[in-house]
Amino acid sequence: RAKLEARGAFRFFEPEMDARIQARRLVEQDLRAALAAEAFELHYQPIYDLASDRICGFEALLRWNHPTRGRVSPAEFIPVAEEIGLIVPLGEWVLRRACDEASRWPDGIKVAVNVSAVQFTSASLVTAVRDALRNSGLPGRRLELEITESVLVANPGATTAILHSLKGLGVRVSMDDFGTGYSSLSYLRSFPFDKIKIDQSFVRDLGGPNGTDFIVRAVIGLGDSLGMTTTAEGVETEAQLATLRAEGCDEVQGYLFSRPVPVEDVPAVIRRWNGAIQRAIA
Ligand code: C2E
Ligand code: MG
Ligand code: MG
Ligand code: MG
Repeated sequence: RAKLEARGAFRFFEPEMDARIQARRLVEQDLRAALAAEAFELHYQPIYDLASDRICGFEALLRWNHPTRGRVSPAEFIPVAEEIGLIVPLGEWVLRRACDEASRWPDGIKVAVNVSAVQFTSASLVTAVRDALRNSGLPGRRLELEITESVLVANPGATTAILHSLKGLGVRVSMDDFGTGYSSLSYLRSFPFDKIKIDQSFVRDLGGPNGTDFIVRAVIGLGDSLGMTTTAEGVETEAQLATLRAEGCDEVQGYLFSRPVPVEDVPAVIRRWNGAIQRAIA
């Protein structure tokens, strides 16, 4: 009987695994071609400052328009790009494009760029950032880099040195998806981050029966005492916004304000929120 079950399991899993490996191989091939064909673009999601009630920046989010599959999620292709060593050239393309596009925005508006752990500790990151700033003319103070906790765990020594070099360029660095990784609180204290981004999983459950309000409150308090800005991700409702405001969160980002938009829509988003007629919110 055990044998039968095992065979059943075998028959059930094998074609599925095969399909997955094949799909991955396709993604690999297509990714390499896409970088050459410029099939990528950046969409931008506004980051809203609660003290001034204005948009203070945009996060650049990578989009891949696949010839047959349509839009593929970065959650799917970034890990593959990391594995096949394509993340460094791809990440450098993102940096260049984001700095070029942001250099045409009003001076008060920053741009935030996600940097993968693999790219962050690559030898060329600091040079790539310096070049992207120089070639675009974007001042370093208008660029923020977002990294996740996995960077710290993988290579704490190198990370400190890189963070200090970036600060030398005037660039700010944020800890993305805070609370979802494996880093300890002592990491936060020992690395010179400018900002903590509270992961959307904690924002989603604000005010619920298994509410994460106490976690969000604790992270905001932590940010305050370490002199770091706190940004909440994934804000979708007025109720979440009201709670975040009451808790003293500095910045918010989410579908409540805007989905990520193509670059040509950025001026309209800025006008809508920062224009003369301001929408009163919460
Ligand atoms: P992330 O950096 O934490 O970006 C936030 C993600 O949440 C984005 O998903 C954004 O579209 C989504 N989001 C924003 N507001 C809301 C909301 O109100 N509700 C919900 N449910 N989602 C919201 P996206 O664009 O699919 O990106 C997923 C992840 O892929 C990013 O997470 C980031 O880790 C990675 N990624 C995106 N672009 C790049 C890139 O250029 N380089 C690297 N290395 N990673 C990137
Ligand atoms: Mg991010
Ligand atoms: Mg995030
Ligand atoms: Mg604060």
